[in-house]
Amino acid sequence: MTETLDIKITKTKHSRLNETDFDNLPFGKIFTDHMFVADYADGEWKNLQVVPYGDISFSPAISSLHYGQSFFEGIKAYKHADGQVSVFRPDKNAARFNKSAERLCMPTLPEEIFLQSIAAVIDVDRDWVPAQANHSLYIRPFMFATDRFLGVAPSTTYSYMVLLCPVGPYFSKTLRVKIETHFTRAAEGGMGYAKSSGNYGGSMYPAKKATEEGFDQLIWTDAKDHKYIEEMGAANVMFVLDGTLITPSTRDTILDGVTRDTVLTLAREWGMPVEERRVSIAEIIEGAKNGKLTDAFGAGTAATLAPVGSISHEGEEYFLSDPQTREFSQKMLKALNAIRYGDAPDVHGWNYMV
Ligand SMILES: *Cc1c(COP(=O)(O)O)cnc(C)c1O
Repeated sequence: MTETLDIKITKTKHSRLNETDFDNLPFGKIFTDHMFVADYADGEWKNLQVVPYGDISFSPAISSLHYGQSFFEGIKAYKHADGQVSVFRPDKNAARFNKSAERLCMPTLPEEIFLQSIAAVIDVDRDWVPAQANHSLYIRPFMFATDRFLGVAPSTTYSYMVLLCPVGPYFSKTLRVKIETHFTRAAEGGMGYAKSSGNYGGSMYPAKKATEEGFDQLIWTDAKDHKYIEEMGAANVMFVLDGTLITPSTRDTILDGVTRDTVLTLAREWGMPVEERRVSIAEIIEGAKNGKLTDAFGAGTAATLAPVGSISHEGEEYFLSDPQTREFSQKMLKALNAIRYGDAPDVHGWNYMV
């Protein structure tokens, strides 16, 4: 039994719900009427509140702006046919939230605050959860340092917030991806496994270079030798090679994705051979050449499964089969959606009803 937390709720007098065009929802740009806020000071979390969404005011000296003590999470909520709303596996995000916090010398957040903060703000903005097919509510919990101090040292005060964005179907065009063998996202001993804001700032320059070369995404490789595949953009990467689902094993350079875990769990239940291990560039290129690489996709909350259409390596482009004809990822996407939208029994207890 967890106690129900004391969360103060202040509702907006001016809802923007009726002026929002739910048929045109650019990702991450439309925010619901409310947000969750809490403060950390004197060693504890306090002032748990749902307030109207709006600008916040801080000193320009807060250390998160200068030294990057800041991280986030990404989760989705779905509206079922009967109108109920569920959040997909938020307990996994709660655990990862605290891994990120520890890596950045930031305070952990009790799981009940994480879960109840999300439930509280969604409850107030329940009508914002889109009901159209393949739509969802994107949930962005985050924490940042708020001490006014220009010394490089952990802050003693922090803010925790949750924002909500109604989102449409992710435009999953077939991706043209490049294996990156120069730039690095994360190195051993670094913070690649944390959803630390700085990781994303650092990935933009290589991503921009790749875009200029005509690619949609990068496949990151190990920092040491650039011989092993790690992730794809801000998603995990998975392959079906000779009938086996393979994906890089998690380590400190790899974000332990909830979508990745969900796909691996379902695939194992289906009796599919699954391997979590180091995945070399050489075997993927070989599989693309000899036709044994029958599926390749990114896996993450925002995109769900993003099909890879071609993989480029050292100036050669290798084309894969038409994503519409790929048995595994098509079946997986259907299964995932059926669970999340409540159209299939939730035998794993993955849907957190709010
Ligand atoms: C968020 C993220 C993922 C995907 O994680 P999910 O929990 O499935 O959303 C994978 N890699 C990186 C680098 C990420 O930031």
